[in-house]
Amino acid sequence: MKAVFSDRQLGHRPAHIVSSGAAVASPETPARAEILLAAALALGLEREAPADYGLDPIRAVHTERYLTFLERIHERWLRIPGASTDVLPNVHPDTRDAVYPASAVGQVGFHVFDGAAPITADTWDAALWSAWTAVHAAREVLAGAPACYALSRPPGHHSGKELAGGFCYLNNSAIAARELRGRYEKVAILDVDVHHGNGTQDIFYECDDVLTVSIHANPVRFYPFFWGAADETGAGAGHGYNCNLPLPRGTGDDDYLATLEQALGRIADYAPGALVVALGLDASGDDPFAGFAITTRGFGRIAERVAGLRLPTVLVQEGGYPQPGLGDNLAAFLGAYCL
Ligand SMILES: [Zn+2]
Repeated sequence: MKAVFSDRQLGHRPAHIVSSGAAVASPETPARAEILLAAALALGLEREAPADYGLDPIRAVHTERYLTFLERIHERWLRIPGASTDVLPNVHPDTRDAVYPASAVGQVGFHVFDGAAPITADTWDAALWSAWTAVHAAREVLAGAPACYALSRPPGHHSGKELAGGFCYLNNSAIAARELRGRYEKVAILDVDVHHGNGTQDIFYECDDVLTVSIHANPVRFYPFFWGAADETGAGAGHGYNCNLPLPRGTGDDDYLATLEQALGRIADYAPGALVVALGLDASGDDPFAGFAITTRGFGRIAERVAGLRLPTVLVQEGGYPQPGLGDNLAAFLGAYCL
């Protein structure tokens, strides 16, 4: 199996994020990508760099005004007297149907929904290469590989059609799913990150050609707070094609695996031609976000069940933050695809 990654993805290094009102160092560091890459290579995966695939695969998921915003906002921001070095929001609309402002400050509030997605001079470049990593992995699978690992960093599943937040700028998993749709009539996304994939839900909420299934810590007491309830099931043509399976904080291997069976049943009923796994590893009991208590062996058991679907699969890296077991957890998951 191949591990797709570009060193260009390392350029994004925000000075800080805002967490509980405080300016703190981001756990979403270039070093975490290096830990994940080392673990994938130690497992025997073959490293491959993505190509530049242009904006078309990204336009399949995000709006034009959002992409223009992401590309140019840092340069515009620096022209504001007294502005911070990295772009961060300090105002938000009460709904996203609000008037679209011309001001840089207003547009940042419109497009960036929290303080955990600062935009630096290198963010656009790193996010593009992260998205192209997902495109490249999807094309590997379209070319006949049973599975491919996209080490997408920065991650993507909190990024909506025109929203950044939660360390995410471009929705790599959604971009991979749209790429797979080029051949397969139906594609499923299974999101195992401890946080709800609100961006992925936003993108496909009214679609019936991409089934979205997310297992995550209940948002009533966990990020992203405003999305991820079980009664969010899709709208219009997409009604019934968005499946949220929230679980209590502290959920361990056995309870998680029982819920995974429901998720896999839903995917089997849908009968997709291919699968994207939004591969967050922050469900680990040792992750700094401490949402679930999945063990390294648990990640292996989860992966065995998912691999048992025997679908062409793109594994797209989402969350999972530096802690001593991070690399082992990735190896446990990818190991099920190397047999
Ligand atoms: Zn997460």
